[in-house]
Amino acid sequence: MFADVIVDINNVEVDKVFEYSFSDCKINLGSRVVVPFGKKFIEGIVIGIKDTTNYDVEKIKPIHSLLEQTPALTKETLQLMEYVAKTCYVTRASALRLFLPSEMRKGKVKEQFNRYVQLAPNLDIELAKSSLRKTAIKQKELIDFLGDGQKRLFSMLAEKFGNSAVNAVIEKNFAVLTKEKYFRSPYKTLDNQTNSVELTEKQKLAVQSIKNTDKTVNLIFGVTGSGKTEVYLNLINHVISQGKTAIMLVPEIALTPQMLKQLRARFSDDAAILHSGLSAGERFDEWWRLRNGQARIAIGARSAIFAPLENLGLIIIDEEHDGSYTSESAPRYNTIDVAKYRAENCGAKLVLGSATPSVESYKNATIDGNYNLIELPDRINKRPLPTVDVVDMRKEVMRGNNSPFSSVLKDEIGDCLSKGNQAIIFLNQRGYSKTVICTECGHVQKCTDCDVSLTYHKEENALLCHYCGAKYKMIEACTECGSPFIRHGGTGTERVVIELKKLFPQARILRMDRDTTQNKEGHFNILNKFTNREADILVGTQMIAKGHDFPFVTLVGILDADMSLHFSDFRSGERTFQLLTQVAGRSGRAKESGKVVLQTYSPENLVLRQAIRYDYKGFFNQEISIRKATGFPPYADIVRVLVSSEDDEGALNATKAIYNELNLIYLENRQKFKFFGCMKAPLKRLQNKFRYQILMRIDANDRKLLDTIFVISDKYKSRNLLISMEINSNNLT
Ligand code: ADP
Ligand code: ZN
Ligand code: ZN
Repeated sequence: MFADVIVDINNVEVDKVFEYSFSDCKINLGSRVVVPFGKKFIEGIVIGIKDTTNYDVEKIKPIHSLLEQTPALTKETLQLMEYVAKTCYVTRASALRLFLPSEMRKGKVKEQFNRYVQLAPNLDIELAKSSLRKTAIKQKELIDFLGDGQKRLFSMLAEKFGNSAVNAVIEKNFAVLTKEKYFRSPYKTLDNQTNSVELTEKQKLAVQSIKNTDKTVNLIFGVTGSGKTEVYLNLINHVISQGKTAIMLVPEIALTPQMLKQLRARFSDDAAILHSGLSAGERFDEWWRLRNGQARIAIGARSAIFAPLENLGLIIIDEEHDGSYTSESAPRYNTIDVAKYRAENCGAKLVLGSATPSVESYKNATIDGNYNLIELPDRINKRPLPTVDVVDMRKEVMRGNNSPFSSVLKDEIGDCLSKGNQAIIFLNQRGYSKTVICTECGHVQKCTDCDVSLTYHKEENALLCHYCGAKYKMIEACTECGSPFIRHGGTGTERVVIELKKLFPQARILRMDRDTTQNKEGHFNILNKFTNREADILVGTQMIAKGHDFPFVTLVGILDADMSLHFSDFRSGERTFQLLTQVAGRSGRAKESGKVVLQTYSPENLVLRQAIRYDYKGFFNQEISIRKATGFPPYADIVRVLVSSEDDEGALNATKAIYNELNLIYLENRQKFKFFGCMKAPLKRLQNKFRYQILMRIDANDRKLLDTIFVISDKYKSRNLLISMEINSNNLT
């Protein structure tokens, strides 16, 4: 037999199918194999099997060996891999990496086994014991201990009776040793309380509607606290009972334990978790449990969309609007597009859920009628959405208030604490101060490798570049003029905590941002403490905005609501609306109603006003008409070719060359372009690389044109010239 194999080398030149011969009948479609390649042996994957070949049979080399008995990929995941390679413009080897735990490649992690000892079948215990020497007391005790026929852990027996006794009894064939694969399991400490609830009428209707529709994609537009999670759990239960499998995606790794807890409570070991925060061994084992069918529900952040499940019946994407569903490094996939393709290919249902659907999704569900739309307009128990107080920070500053808190917010925090409730303070800036500025000459400390200002982190007493991660010693004096008078500009979460402690010395405060959640269970521990009311105030970045359900939070303070409005991105309005609604949604979810204090420097901003009124439809109608009029997604695709290199001139020349070639296409197809331009990237230098871009707005979903743009720009790629093509990227820095 002959196998088509793609090899695990991420290089366009070898992104071809190579043929090998084999006779091992265990080799299958999707099997991982080792093949001779040039003078080396490398890993590859079988993507096709046939009994004839067009090549000279003599010259075809045989597959060297099979890596695992179970094929790592299925026919369906192989198709998905091809889809990703094609639509994200990456090699198949690169797409393939999304499908395998990285530990599996190059055999880094070994499976773990437990050794068990059991009495030999039909052993005559008395006879066995009498054959032993008088002094072999431990061995006799061991035989008696095993007398009940039960299987025991070798390690446990060795501890009790000594290693040599256990080995001796096995050697004499009085007992048998067996090995069983052992699965490392993450989040063992998670308590599994079951709290099954009766669905409300609205929730029941949502479940029914999704079960009955012919449409593949469903959009649940449900306000924060409307009980979407219960709907998801119910649907999962339904597909599992039909013998199918399900994938559940949440936007943040921080949210996975919370969801896993709920899934384990109902489906116990049927749920497996996949995300990059797990240890290599845990990830590897969870992946195999899904592959073997020992677990039928995969939960994780975006990469879990590639979970190795067969017989997929359901994909759920919670908080579907979230930016984290688009990958910002190659392969730059959009999780929703991948999920749509996968669901259609498997005949599975896709459920998207959000209180603030993305403009694309809501248009699909309403204007285009492609999705089944389900609305959950009320909170569970008809709890009102929190009331929002808007504070004009310009007036606070004029009054001489330079603290990060307005007087209204201070009063509300005091009030909230005195009632024994909890508060959340949201600020999308980590560190102590956003910038460090010299008061004499105005010099701003910048990263030497990037064109960005440095953020001061007080705990580390260091200046950090949030783009490349570089760390610098905090300055004592201005590096330009030597003046010791340094000012901190812009407030970060660290400073907010310090100021809060001054104002409310008795309050217990937690901070959650990227700095406090470095280790795997960091998120989990902070959220757990807050949920268990071991703290009164939680200060955090957008990490705390999403999906969490804290029943005792009655106040949310939003310190700088304008932050994301200042980005020149076409999605900035949408992002602001989403963020504000999500953060506000953390307040007043249980018995007591909630409040939100929103501080802003532009209280008249239309998007802010719509967010305050929870007027999603008003926001959508306005936003979609702007997008249509100006030709932005979903009415066009924004394509950026980004050229970056340490060699400034080389990058500029390559950009010009690509621009000239693309310009010919543009001149011939003007009707397909709405905009075409070439310029420096907004972030001119990153990690010591100079950056240039060609920006295009073209007709939506024009695959042929995209292919052309890719082929042209890809030609100029070289060892020291990085070129990437981004389609509708969330981050055009
Ligand atoms: P969402 O995801 O829509 O923001 P959740 O699913 O977190 O909302 O639900 C909000 C709260 O309502 C949770 O505390 C949840 O346990 C509770 N809840 C959901 N459905 C029901 C129900 N049918 N009966 C009682 N409580 C419910
Ligand atoms: Zn200075
Ligand atoms: Zn930097």
